[in-house]
Order: sequence, then C-alpha cells, then structure tokens
Amino acid sequence: MALSIPGIDAEHLFALVGGLGFALLMWRYDNRFRKGAKMHDHVAEIGRDLDPAIPPRCLGCGSHHASHPVKVRRFLHGVSPITVAMDPSYKRRFTFGCCLDCARPIRRRRRLGRFSMVAGYLFGVHIALSIIVAATARGSYQAAAKILPHYRLGWLFNVATWPFEMIIGTFLVGLGFWMTLYSPYVTVLDTGGRTIFFRFRNQHYRDAFAELNGEGAT
Ligand SMILES: [Zn+2]
Repeated sequence: MALSIPGIDAEHLFALVGGLGFALLMWRYDNRFRKGAKMHDHVAEIGRDLDPAIPPRCLGCGSHHASHPVKVRRFLHGVSPITVAMDPSYKRRFTFGCCLDCARPIRRRRRLGRFSMVAGYLFGVHIALSIIVAATARGSYQAAAKILPHYRLGWLFNVATWPFEMIIGTFLVGLGFWMTLYSPYVTVLDTGGRTIFFRFRNQHYRDAFAELNGEGAT
C-alpha cells in the first residue's frame, strides 16, 4: 500500500490531512475578514464589548424602510466551548433592520430550517416512544408488532428502522439549524479577540455602520 508510513495508518493520516485542511480553510476565512477590515472593504471591525449602533436602514438594499428586524448570530472560530459557556457575551445576537422585500427570503429560509429541525426531532421522539412502549407495555408492543405489518406499517415498530431514523433525524436537525443561520447580507465573525468582524454585502451599509460605531474617530 502506498499509504503505509510506519507508525501512522491510513485512517489517522486521512484525519490529520482533513483536520489541517479545515484549519487552513478557516485561517484563510479569518484572514479575508482581517484584510477586508483593514481596507474598509465590506468589513467593519468593532470592539467586542461595544453594543454596536445599527444604522436605521435596510441591511440588504439600504432603503430607509427598515421595519423588519432580522437577528443575526455570530460565527465563532478558535474559541473553546468552555469559554463560550462561561461568557454569555458570545451568545449575544445582533438585530438589524430590513425592508419587507429583503426580510422575506431570510424569514422563509429560516422558517423552513425550523420545520426541518422539528421533523428531525420527531424521528428522535419516535425512537424514544418506541423504547418506552416496548419497555413498559410489552403486551401492546407485541400486539402492535403483530397487527402493524398487515397495514404495511411494520417498520413503525421495527428496531431496524432506528438507525435510518437516527441518520435522517440528525441530518434534518443539522441542515435545519444551518438554515436558521441564513444571513445573506451580513456575516459576523468572532475569533475571541478584543474585536469582532462584520462583513456586509452592501458597502454603503458597511460605511454607515462603521461611521456610527466610531470608525475614523480614532
Ligand atoms: Zn431592502
């Protein structure tokens, strides 16, 4: 085998390369934000303790009708889960305003994400209920196991269904959660440093945001 380096087997090597690749990708991502912030190119950098002032404009198109609040979560990179658990400021969200037209696709996508998460949890609930029924009411479990196959519903009480349910459920919850993060107009990156980064799609909005939050004053 080509991949047999003494002491390291192919699997570990694969994990190592994959891990390094991911770290490199994240580093490039961070770097892009930092460079953008330095050049004032779509990225604004503000102190993490500040409560950022939000321009009274639409985050998407810059119109003055910004009546629909859109909450945005931050992406964390290089921050340990313990730090996040100890410090609630990492979980704080930012509320921007959007006009109806710009808010609609975000709300739709996020709603779909929540549905997907609920559907995923339902698979988990089904597994849990099956276990409870099997453990507490063996009689009815056996009756169900006898009757259900006649209606082609045998899978409902079949242990073999569970792995599929677990995989599909986990996938739906993961996908759904990812969809609830949908934020096409701004990405917030927190690397645990003294400042956090906001990358806006709209350069005019970025400038207004940066000016409101003290850029140029220093
Ligand atoms: Zn808009």
